[in-house]
Amino acid sequence: MKPIILVIFDGLGDRPIKVLNFQTPLEAAKKPNLDKLAELGITGLLHTIERGVRPGSDVAHLSILGYNPKFYYAGRGPFEASGYGIKVQESDVAFRGNLATIDENFIVIDRRAGRIESSEAFAELIDGLEIDGIKIIAKAGLNHRVAVVLRGKNLSDKVSDTDPHIINQPLKKSYSLTEDDNSKFTASIVNKLTEKAYRLFKKHPINKERERKGLPPANSLLLRGAGKMSKYESFLEKYNLKAACIAGAGLYKGIAKILGMEIIEVEGATGKTNTNIEGKIKKAIDLLPAYDFIFVHIKATDSLSEDGKPIEKKLFIEKADQFFTPLISLVQNREIILTVTSDHSTASDIKIHTADEVPILVAGFGVRTDKVNKFGERSCQDGGLGHIEGANLIDFLINLRGETKLYGN
Ligand code: ZN
Repeated sequence: MKPIILVIFDGLGDRPIKVLNFQTPLEAAKKPNLDKLAELGITGLLHTIERGVRPGSDVAHLSILGYNPKFYYAGRGPFEASGYGIKVQESDVAFRGNLATIDENFIVIDRRAGRIESSEAFAELIDGLEIDGIKIIAKAGLNHRVAVVLRGKNLSDKVSDTDPHIINQPLKKSYSLTEDDNSKFTASIVNKLTEKAYRLFKKHPINKERERKGLPPANSLLLRGAGKMSKYESFLEKYNLKAACIAGAGLYKGIAKILGMEIIEVEGATGKTNTNIEGKIKKAIDLLPAYDFIFVHIKATDSLSEDGKPIEKKLFIEKADQFFTPLISLVQNREIILTVTSDHSTASDIKIHTADEVPILVAGFGVRTDKVNKFGERSCQDGGLGHIEGANLIDFLINLRGETKLYGN
C-alpha cells in the first residue's frame, strides 16, 4: 500500500493583495516545485469545515483528519497543553494562553507581548503554584504562547476567556458560563491566577530589560479556550493507518498525540519562519517505509499573515518550495500519495482567518490528473477535485490507496 504524506501550510490561502499587484502571496511566489506537483496531480479547493465557516486551526485540523469537530471538539486548551508535553488528565481544565502587554489601566496593548522570543521564564514563575487547593501547571510554547492546566477537585471548563481577543480593550475577568458552583469556583481560580501572574511577571528582570530596549513587556497572562480532555478513537483504530506527525508548534503536536500519532522531532523545527523545512521533508521521506500516513505541519505562513506581512509570506513560500524537490520523483514514480493544502485561509490584509477556501493538490499513486499546472487559490478553481470538504479528505486519500470499505456489495 502506498503511504500518504499530508503537508499542511497553516493559513496558506490568502486574498489578492495590493502590494503584490493583487495577487495572493501563493500566486505571487516563485515556487516551481509546488507548481510541478500541481501539474502532476489533481487540484481543487477545500472547505476545511464547510462553506462559510471561518475555522480556528484546532477544529480545522480535526476536520481535515476526519474527526468532526462538532462531536470531538472540547476547547483548544487540552490540545495545546498536550503538545507542550503536559499529560492532561480527564479531570483537568486546560487553557491556551498568551503572554501579553497591558498598561497601568489593565488595557491590553499587545496580545503577544511583541512576539517575545520565549515564554519559558514566565511559565516557570506560575508553574507549581497552588491556589485554593488547585495546582497550576504551566508550560512554555513558541514565543508568547503558554499552556496552563488547572488540576484538582471541582473544576469545570465552562468558564470564559480572560483574553479580550482584540487590543485596546481591558483584560477580562473570567466568569462562569453555567450556573453551577464548579464553574464559578474555576472562574475564581482563573482570576486569582491572572492577578498573581501580573504581580510576578511585571517585576521580572526580562521585562525590565525589555522596557529599557523599548520593547513591550510580557506583564500579563491572557487565557482562552478552556477545555477538558475527552476520549478519542486513535487514527490507527479509525483508519487502520499507522501515523506520524512532524511539526514545530505545540497545538499540532498536541492534536496528533491525542489522535495516537507518533510525534517525530526534527532538529530546528521551530514553527517559526526560521524552521527547518528541509529537515522536516527529509524526515518525512525517511519515515516512509515505517508509516502509512505522515502529517507534516508548517506554521509560519499563518503567523506572517496574522502579522500583516504578505511579502514575507510570499518569500517564505518560495523558501519552503525549494525543499519539495525530493518529493517530485516519488510522485512521478507513484510511490507516494502526496497532498499539499492548508487548514484555512488567513488574509494578510485584514490579519484574520477567513472562511475562504484553501487550495489543495493531491499527486502520486492512483491520482487522475487535471489540466491545472499552478498551485494557487485561483488556478485551483479549475481543478478536477472541484470543491471538497475537510470531512471527506482522508477517505478520498484512503481510496487512492485502494483501502476504502465497500459501500453495499
Ligand atoms: Zn491554522
